[in-house]
Amino acid sequence: MIHENDLAELQGQLAEAAKDFRKVAFEVESDRDAIHRHLDLPGVQWLAYMFIPPEYNPAPFLGKEGRKYYFMECSERVLSLEALSYGDVGVLMASPGPGMSGHVIYDLGSPEQQEFYYKRVASKPTWTFFSITEPEKGSDAANLTSQLKPTGEGTYELWGEKILTGNSHRGQLGIVFARRHPGPLGIEAILVDKEARPFQTEPHKLFGLRGAEPSRLKFEGYPVKESDIVGAHLTPSRRGLWGAIQTFNRMRPGVGAMALGVARATYDYVLENRRDLTESETSLWENYRVRIAGTKALLLKAARIADQDASNGALASVAKIENIRLVEEITADALPLFGTKGIWDHPYLMKWYRDARAFEYMEGTSMIHKLHVHQAYLKGKLADV
Ligand SMILES: Cc1cc2nc3c(=O)[nH]c(=O)nc-3n(C[C@H](O)[C@H](O)[C@H](O)COP(=O)(O)OP(=O)(O)OC[C@H]3O[C@@H](n4cnc5c(N)ncnc54)[C@H](O)[C@@H]3O)c2cc1C
Repeated sequence: MIHENDLAELQGQLAEAAKDFRKVAFEVESDRDAIHRHLDLPGVQWLAYMFIPPEYNPAPFLGKEGRKYYFMECSERVLSLEALSYGDVGVLMASPGPGMSGHVIYDLGSPEQQEFYYKRVASKPTWTFFSITEPEKGSDAANLTSQLKPTGEGTYELWGEKILTGNSHRGQLGIVFARRHPGPLGIEAILVDKEARPFQTEPHKLFGLRGAEPSRLKFEGYPVKESDIVGAHLTPSRRGLWGAIQTFNRMRPGVGAMALGVARATYDYVLENRRDLTESETSLWENYRVRIAGTKALLLKAARIADQDASNGALASVAKIENIRLVEEITADALPLFGTKGIWDHPYLMKWYRDARAFEYMEGTSMIHKLHVHQAYLKGKLADV
């Protein structure tokens, strides 16, 4: 956890990095190669090394008295993701770094897999990806159909199609989920090295959050070795899709944090650019000020719970639902405050409106999270939150 004495320094640096992100937001949105021209931005460099554990990380954030931060804890991550998304969430998502695939490796990878993965991402800016979604299976991931077919002793072929996988077109390393046996325990996480063994990818055309560059992936007999199956040393109930559930619980507050960053950016932008708010508009914006403070507190609490007990993802679900609701509403309410011309005169507001629509689909839709929360409530898991 970040030491209290380091917090102001960290927040100051994040705020500066967010300003850089804001400046290049439209360039990164319109040109998918633009991020390569901004690898020297402090925020981008930071993301490239965030979540790399101490034994492999050459560039941790340095606090006072030499304290080093690696952002392995969820509560540290939400602070940084929220602050950088305040600048621009598209640049954040376009940046290299371990992200979710790194966490699967951290939680489930063998020592050899961890060494391979982390040495690689620490050696140069590396874009990574994490692929579950299929054309016919989004929320219903336990029924995905991509196949891992045995071809010999410890060798396999991967067959199937994935969609909407962020950073997979520009990415080099990733995790792809595919089925080796029937049933949810038969789904394996496979480490794929696109640089060494390329496969077909094609970016989707997106309305918002284009920096994430979600893409289509096609595997037609892609060669896989036993050593590429993440956590092959673990039992089926502790690896694959089943084993990654705790990772999802810990990563989920991050999506809420990105949504909150965009909501806060919209809130401040309106106050800075529309000084003559009417009484009812002032009251609307005052209501958003209170909601931003409330959802932030909820998010931090969900992150702390995820750090203490990753099997309890209920509050992370609540935090995601509330932050997504907030960002969708505030970005929709902001535009009309500037009249019809707002769409042209205030492109950031239009961008944030578009970006905000993507969060709903990342890491599970609100409907799926409501089902999680309902089940947790019935099991008494929300009682002492
Ligand atoms: C910007 C962006 C980035 C993404 N990045 C990734 C990524 O990196 N990797 C990856 O694998 N995927 C990624 N996704 C995909 C995302 O995870 C899926 O879009 C999501 O799982 C929803 O799946 P779907 O779009 O197929 O919708 P569906 O699952 O078809 O759902 C459609 C609607 O039906 C509802 N619904 C579905 N099942 C139920 C149910 N049982 N009960 C009630 N309602 C239900 C849903 O809430 C939703 O409203 C990304 C998506 C976006 C937009």
